[in-house]
Amino acid sequence: MTTMEPDQIRVLIPADRIRERVGELGRAITDDYAGADEIVVVCVLKGAFIFAADLVRQIGIPCRMDFIRASSYGTHCSSSGRVLINHDLDIEGRKVLLVEDIVDTGLTLSCITAELMKLAPESLKICCLLDKPSARKVPAEADYIAFTIPDLFIAGYGLDMAGRHRELPYIGIPAS
Ligand code: 5GP
Repeated sequence: MTTMEPDQIRVLIPADRIRERVGELGRAITDDYAGADEIVVVCVLKGAFIFAADLVRQIGIPCRMDFIRASSYGTHCSSSGRVLINHDLDIEGRKVLLVEDIVDTGLTLSCITAELMKLAPESLKICCLLDKPSARKVPAEADYIAFTIPDLFIAGYGLDMAGRHRELPYIGIPAS
């Protein structure tokens, strides 16, 4: 299958490099959780849905999937503000791996982490597709990062640009 590259998007990280890196992360996570019966993978919608789907298929440990929503507006770390936690999210005493699309200012990730910790998981680790450390405003660190990138707006592989381009198999930047 050939993939069309929309005129306005330039490839930053090609699909084969993403596939390779997701495989590496899957192996690292499998090693780190060796001996675990199960991990709960919490995918942050919408941006992480493709990354999480590919990642769990590279993890050699049974994964229970769950989903939360995060919005990029709002300044409060509450379930009604920046982070929307499912009422049925059951992670008490569980080993949780949070899968997020991108850490930019760090505010979203710090809010999600605080909300999830209130639910008393046994452990909480964070796996991010992309990290923009130069954009950080509040401390936020992932345990696993697929790619560290400069402070550029990106789209593709689950991330959108005004609601579009999530389906692209690569990570791209708007062509200027
Ligand atoms: P933060 O709270 O760290 O500033 O923002 C994190 C969220 O903002 C991400 O989960 C993502 O939804 C959105 N975001 C940040 N940078 C980008 C980007 O370059 N492209 C897209 N599509 N979303 C971004």
